[in-house]
Amino acid sequence: MISRIDMRGSLPADLRDVLPRAEIDVEAALEKVRPICEDVRHRGAAAVRELTARFDGVEIATTRVPAEALERALRELDPRVRAALEESIRRARLVHRDQRRADVTTQVVPGGTVTERWVPVERVGLYVPGGRAVYPSSVVMNVVPAQEAGVGSLAVTSPAQKEHGGLPHPTVLAACALLGVDEVHSAGGAQAVAMFAYGTEDCPAATMVTGPGNIYVVAAKRLLKGRIGIDSEAGPTEIAILADETADPVHVAADLISQAEHDTIAAAVLVTTSAELADAVEKELPGQVSATRHSERITEALNGRQSGIVLVSSIDDGLKVVDAYAAEHLEIHTADAAAVAARVRNAGAIFVGTYAPVSLGDYLAGSNHVLPTGGCACHSGGLSVQSFLRGVHVVDYSREALAGAAAHVSALADAEDLPAHGAAIRARFDWRVPTETE
Ligand code: NAD
Repeated sequence: MISRIDMRGSLPADLRDVLPRAEIDVEAALEKVRPICEDVRHRGAAAVRELTARFDGVEIATTRVPAEALERALRELDPRVRAALEESIRRARLVHRDQRRADVTTQVVPGGTVTERWVPVERVGLYVPGGRAVYPSSVVMNVVPAQEAGVGSLAVTSPAQKEHGGLPHPTVLAACALLGVDEVHSAGGAQAVAMFAYGTEDCPAATMVTGPGNIYVVAAKRLLKGRIGIDSEAGPTEIAILADETADPVHVAADLISQAEHDTIAAAVLVTTSAELADAVEKELPGQVSATRHSERITEALNGRQSGIVLVSSIDDGLKVVDAYAAEHLEIHTADAAAVAARVRNAGAIFVGTYAPVSLGDYLAGSNHVLPTGGCACHSGGLSVQSFLRGVHVVDYSREALAGAAAHVSALADAEDLPAHGAAIRARFDWRVPTETE
């Protein structure tokens, strides 16, 4: 049974600590993935092939997926899925295209400008999970922002599937083909992240690796961060719903279940001002859960200590709770949901009202579904075009503009006991501090 926390009296001071939260022990996994990454670093493609045989149970000759396999997967894709993927791509492109940033030049002083130039990272490796489930939607959510950012070289990797002759799942391949991605690898887990970090005979090294994955993928991203850029460490998925007495318990229950379906450690949290709604949702859950395919997984997730119903005495308190929780996905089911949503500060993505469920966002809203988990939404956003861009400052000063700054540079350099800094300016003015108008 889903647990309840009653906060109607007053909110606890340590709100963040008392809220239900999924925990994964990435530190413990680091010890497992360290030798895997070292192996790939030293032995390249041969190590990736051997690790694929060990963890995915299939022998492969190369990680590189041949072009014919991509074409075949697209040809054989169920037309219904193809139409859905095409629409998902179209909507994601609309949103991500609008995220592109123009270079900005600021004139700081006459003759002195700073331009912020947005430069895409050179080569990106996109991880698409494929252990227990297949995620063509993750192909869309990773590839579209990278393409819209103008990333020049883009490769997708997804675990080799024994039942598909060592290739990634055909739906993943078809999604890559639809998006025009021609470099795809069959590799999963930590070895795939290491393949991108160090490069192998089959796969040139990448500058950045993005995409969600299991604990081994997360640990490898943490271990290799620095050598490669990463997006975030995506942990188990989460939904929080802020609801009042106007919410429909059938919709609320369906949405809690839909995210619990991802994983036994997925978190589903309802925060409500209405005890009647809490009762009605609790009553609704068993029927809906037993009617769905993955009822065992969902039951474990809903009954786990990461899920629960939190009762609060007002929407103001509810907002404090959801802000402290900083959910990956937050749904608002209240009267005037848009106004309540506008007051939320911390969430990976906010879904306003009963007709914007998270499952729309998972596939077809146009928004990105790679979002910060584990409370990281209080400092980070989801995957976007911005994730693949670096702002490079281009500093352009004339002799006169430098003269105007020279005395201040010297003063600050002296204050930091870095006199050579000041000297580097004076060297341009016969070794003296120029006057401001020189
Ligand atoms: P995965 O692709 O992340 O991991 C599978 C790989 O793990 C295998 O290829 C194997 O090489 C490796 N592995 C398995 N057991 C291992 C072991 N004992 N030691 C070392 N390596 C091992 O697929 P998954 O396991 O199904 O996990 C996918 C995860 O991604 C789930 O937690 C899911 O919720 C998450 N996900 C998140 C999002 C998001 O947007 N946040 C989207 C899709 C999936």
